[in-house]
Amino acid sequence: MVFRVIPVDPFDLVIFGGTGDLAQRKIYPALYRRYHSGQMPEDARIIGAARSEIGTAEFHQMLRDSIATYIEEETRDADAIEGFLNHCSYLRLDARGEDGWRELAEAVRPGVVRAFYLSVGPRLFGELAERLNIWEIADADSRIVVEKPFGHDLETARALNATLAQHFHEHQIYRIDHYLGKETVQNLMAVRFANMLFEPLWNARNVDHIQITVAETVGVGGRAEYYDRAGAMRDMVQNHMMQLLCLIAMEPPYAFEPDAVRDEKLKVIRALDPVLPEDIVRGQYEAEDGQGSYVDDVENPESRTESFVALKVSVSNWRWKGAPFYLRTGKRMRERTSEIAVVFKDPPHSIFGEENAQKPNVLVIRLQPNEGINLRVTIKEPGPGGMRLVEVPLDMSFKEALGPDAGEIPDAYERLIMDVIRGNQTLFMRGDEVEAAWAWIDPIIARWDNVRDRPRPYQPGGSGPEDALMLMHRDGRRWREVKA
Ligand code: NAD
Repeated sequence: MVFRVIPVDPFDLVIFGGTGDLAQRKIYPALYRRYHSGQMPEDARIIGAARSEIGTAEFHQMLRDSIATYIEEETRDADAIEGFLNHCSYLRLDARGEDGWRELAEAVRPGVVRAFYLSVGPRLFGELAERLNIWEIADADSRIVVEKPFGHDLETARALNATLAQHFHEHQIYRIDHYLGKETVQNLMAVRFANMLFEPLWNARNVDHIQITVAETVGVGGRAEYYDRAGAMRDMVQNHMMQLLCLIAMEPPYAFEPDAVRDEKLKVIRALDPVLPEDIVRGQYEAEDGQGSYVDDVENPESRTESFVALKVSVSNWRWKGAPFYLRTGKRMRERTSEIAVVFKDPPHSIFGEENAQKPNVLVIRLQPNEGINLRVTIKEPGPGGMRLVEVPLDMSFKEALGPDAGEIPDAYERLIMDVIRGNQTLFMRGDEVEAAWAWIDPIIARWDNVRDRPRPYQPGGSGPEDALMLMHRDGRRWREVKA
């Protein structure tokens, strides 16, 4: 099976922060892949805009380097790279001054989709949005794309929303959460709403609990300064994990349309109970094998920021009351893995005797590595040894299921950028969703600030602090082992 490529309309895509890390690591490689797949129209134009004093030749070299570093070998092809570069140009521009704006106003074309990707720190959003309007570069159909973090708390998120709203309508604003662009995340909606099999069981009567794990093996790396201000709760839970929780918990939307889907997600966030202090565990990784501890990495011995958090979350509505969601995320864990596990209840009675303790069915949605869906079911062990039960996986790895010709599964950024060009906001967060998520998170963080307790230390290469295991054990449950 070969993925179908649906053409998009001609566009001018301006990437502010066009020499930055995100642009080089994610945005240009994603655009190159779309070009390579044949999706980019002939008259599409990509304009990198930033403060650096570089010319087109240097910019093109930067793009070649980015492709050489981030694109797999089989997709790198000299003709395609040169063809892609023909779409790309550079403009020196200062978000805070007048340099470059006249040139940009002259560069964008009438009659094509105009999209502006703000791949810069949020403090520049207001000035960029304002200048796009003053110079009449943005029109009523233009799209503006903004990156995480969207605010540091409810107050700053509201202020950012208000700033953007001064210059753009909500239907023009695309707040990226790249988790929503992942193939498996969208498949979660397909599995739920395009099959009859799961939906009747998708509730607290049949589901015991849900686990969402996002584990990384790396430490804070080069992002120490940002991370120490944010912590796992702001960096992962407020956005990515909340979005996953919403997609699992939401009611079927009436259509796969932007506001229909986002209305349902918002209802889930509003149904979240406040989290009790005993339902949260925070952790900080320790030093090991010559690698520094968290406080070494952020060069702040007093830091109380969490590099790990586990929490039990209750969704108070008819569907989910009684089936908790357990969330955990951390750095320097055993494996790099992201998954959602829907753990069903045990059958009410075992007819196969005590020697055949039954294991619950588990539906595992794997986001990485090896995206796919796995359903664990109990069957009879083959052979003449009587009725002995074993648990086996019904496994669907997308790569295996769709065959070797399917090519690489598109990266989240590829899909999301093309959705911006198509004008489809389904996989982007709406302003009220982001604010509702902060309104739920803020009191949790405020309590940590008040009590001044320190996160629990944990050994790198494991599953986080001991207390996180207890969070499950005390409820008679256990985390699935973190393994790739
Ligand atoms: P960066 O510091 O590497 O790049 C910043 C870019 O902004 C540079 O191109 C710089 O020239 C440009 N710039 C700065 N001031 C400017 C001005 N006054 N006028 C014009 N251009 C100016 O930052 P980054 O890591 O690429 O991050 C960009 C945004 O994406 C940030 O909001 C960040 O939080 C977000 N983000 C980054 C990552 C990542 O992996 N890098 C991941 C998620 C979100």
